[in-house]
Amino acid sequence: MMRYDYLVIGGGSGGVATARRAAEYGAKVLLIESGRLGGTCVNVGCVPKKLMWYAGGMAHALADAASYGFHVDDHRFDWAALKAARDAYVGRLNGIYADMLDKAGVRLLRGHARFVDAGTVEVDGHRHHARHIVIATGGKPQLPDLPGAELGISSDGFFALDHLPRRVAVVGSGYIAVELAGVLAALGSEVTMLVRGDTLLRPFDPMLREELMTQMSDAGIRILTGTRPHALRRGADGALRADCGERTVEADTLIWAIGRHANTDGLDLIAAGLAPDDDGNIATDAWQNTAVPGIYAIGDVTGRAELTPVAIAAGRKLAARLFLDQSEARLDYDTIPTVVFSHPPIGTVGLTEGEAHQQYSDVKIYTSRFTGLYHALTAAKPRTAMKLVCAGPEQRVVGCHIIGEGADEMLQGFAVAIRMGATKADFDNTVAIHPTSAEELVTMR
Ligand SMILES: Cc1cc2nc3c(=O)[nH]c(=O)nc-3n(C[C@H](O)[C@H](O)[C@H](O)COP(=O)(O)OP(=O)(O)OC[C@H]3O[C@@H](n4cnc5c(N)ncnc54)[C@H](O)[C@@H]3O)c2cc1C
Repeated sequence: MMRYDYLVIGGGSGGVATARRAAEYGAKVLLIESGRLGGTCVNVGCVPKKLMWYAGGMAHALADAASYGFHVDDHRFDWAALKAARDAYVGRLNGIYADMLDKAGVRLLRGHARFVDAGTVEVDGHRHHARHIVIATGGKPQLPDLPGAELGISSDGFFALDHLPRRVAVVGSGYIAVELAGVLAALGSEVTMLVRGDTLLRPFDPMLREELMTQMSDAGIRILTGTRPHALRRGADGALRADCGERTVEADTLIWAIGRHANTDGLDLIAAGLAPDDDGNIATDAWQNTAVPGIYAIGDVTGRAELTPVAIAAGRKLAARLFLDQSEARLDYDTIPTVVFSHPPIGTVGLTEGEAHQQYSDVKIYTSRFTGLYHALTAAKPRTAMKLVCAGPEQRVVGCHIIGEGADEMLQGFAVAIRMGATKADFDNTVAIHPTSAEELVTMR
């Protein structure tokens, strides 16, 4: 049996980050990965998604080109060429991840890991023992339990599509549903979103939700709220028909984007003395400890703030705590900024207006809605909308919500200021950068 200081199950965002740091701190590390290195983010998440988002943005820019004097007459779109370039890039990243682990001195083992006991993991009949074991197995898309569900695809299937579907139904209201719908519509598909409730992006500030729904509708996306498929079938004509009670929605491709489920099946958690919680996630405390001493969990498998930088940061802090004697090292899960790569993008950090009212008595809201200068010349006039949520005696900025071009790149710096406790007065005393959209955030009255 091989013995290690640190055994990492899963070579995605969190697993790779924690393994490399632990090795850097002198630990003998084994990382086990059953699929492609880089996990969800690199292979079927952030990276290919963002490339597709850029493609959508390019389609919008081409539509705007004539307004800026460019006559781009022949701009046929070649999905296969884009997919090949994207897949090749992801393939290069897989190789880079393997090199990085190798250079860091992490031993990489390919295969499916399962627990034998709390300190031992088995892969293909071989056992590996470690003082510390971290579960970083991420999650996978959920499919509903209804007749014909398998005729639809998930976000994983979206990245495997070899052509642009003519008519697409996207089921779901979260950020993945919104992002895939936006890309497909921008590239030319006829898109219908089937939303169980009455809004997209339910936990987000209402201003973002309303503006997004308006702008997606303006872009030609049909958003059917209060609509849930009960069954899916393929007709003799090859079309899919989603039976949603009073209405039937027809499409060539249907994408389920209804949530994700932790990858814990087949890990034999029981053998380690662990059990997933009611949502299928592995519960952890603030230091990523599970209920069993010596076993930790990071990233999506914990069901908390399912984002790549969160998995990475939690993994790095854990490595510092275990192998650098930083006994208090842990990720602070408060005030995590996030971006939705919709068209236009959303950037959001901190409290929504409603949350602020629940926590503070003296809340002041500043909003701004305008058409960015870029669209002064274009036929389409999508709006930018911004909101600052300020609270407390000092009027600290406790929330910042932006939808509009550039929101994705705008937010990071504001997130630093907000984490540092910036007040509305600090924002006001910062000189604006003109002409930008971001300047609105320091000139709101
Ligand atoms: C479509 C989509 C878009 C996204 N976009 C963004 C974005 O823009 N920004 C952002 O921050 N986040 C985004 N995310 C979320 C992000 O991808 C995840 O939060 C992140 O990948 C989580 O990292 P992780 O290490 O927890 O798990 P993962 O990256 O999922 O890695 C888990 C790894 O464990 C392996 N594994 C599982 N079980 C076993 C086993 N028993 N033995 C061995 N190996 C195993 C898997 O093969 C996988 O490689 C997106 C996700 C999706 C699906």
